[in-house]
Amino acid sequence: MTETRDTVILGSGCAGLTAAIYTARASLKPLILEGHEPGGQLSITTLVENFPGWPEGIQGPELIENMKKQASRFGAEFQMGHLNSVDLHSHPFRLNTSGGEIHTRSLIIASGASARWLGLSSEQSLIGHGVSSCATCDGFFFRGLEIAVVGGGDSAMEEALFLTRFASKVTVLHRRENFRASKIMLERAIAHPNIELRTNTIVEEVLGVEANEVKGLRLRDVTNGNVTTLPVSGLFLGIGHEPNSKMFAGQIDLDGDGYILTHGNVFTTRNGVVVPGVYACGDVQDRRYRQAITAAGTGCMAALEAEKYLEEHGH
Ligand code: NAP
Repeated sequence: MTETRDTVILGSGCAGLTAAIYTARASLKPLILEGHEPGGQLSITTLVENFPGWPEGIQGPELIENMKKQASRFGAEFQMGHLNSVDLHSHPFRLNTSGGEIHTRSLIIASGASARWLGLSSEQSLIGHGVSSCATCDGFFFRGLEIAVVGGGDSAMEEALFLTRFASKVTVLHRRENFRASKIMLERAIAHPNIELRTNTIVEEVLGVEANEVKGLRLRDVTNGNVTTLPVSGLFLGIGHEPNSKMFAGQIDLDGDGYILTHGNVFTTRNGVVVPGVYACGDVQDRRYRQAITAAGTGCMAALEAEKYLEEHGH
């Protein structure tokens, strides 16, 4: 017979690991399912300088490893596996994973959101070496340098404006003529003396793979096919995020872009009614802040709610 766990946590990024530390210290022996991006977004960044408690900064993968050790010390168990489907209508909840079926009395969803990438192999090789999807995390490293931002929506404009604090020049590259960004954000970017907007332009290659640092971009103008080189030291992707929530469609409420709709920070709902025992935290339910510390904060809240729920339901 399948054993029933008290708590299963989906995802091992900052939110999931914080939830793991809290639920493990509450003796709930959480099982953490690590998916296709173990460690989440932090595991693909380099130096993290804005996580409180690390005056000199800490490498993203090291921060994740520390959290994992901390959770393990209190009895958290980790399992690699892909979640195929969930049944949140029955109780205990049923999770169908690549490693078999798991039953659990409470579920903490911390499956995160994956940054969209262009998909170029040169781009992928230089992630963390000049290619980034997070201006807040990595902008600081580009003081006095020229950089490019790809995208034509609000994220790209916001990143470009933020990056002017550090970079000497920011070139925004957008694949078509018209921008998707809101008028106010676009006007701010246009008005900024250190931002240049280039439309109808796609990135064909990130240059510098051999040197292991970004040296420039090979660009193509889609209107006339002209190929040019833009010498920049950094490339930021501002082309959106995809919440990892597909398997929850129809089980709990999602918004139009697939982010889990939460009520009171971490409570999930179905047709607007709270689903007892199922909590969501971190980037899968946060399109606004997307910071390690806010993910950790909601991970803590989800864990405390799961503990309270189990206590009230005779754990
Ligand atoms: P978005 O609105 O979906 O914009 C994504 C942009 O990236 C689009 O311009 C899109 O081009 C481009 N793009 C997508 N895939 C691409 C690819 N493979 N190659 C090149 N370009 C690509 O996403 P977002 O900017 O992250 O915004 C998401 C939501 O959050 C929006 O509702 C936005 O208003 C909101 N938001 C608000 C703020 C703010 O108000 N401060 C800040 C950030 C986000 P196309 O236009 O050609 O499709």
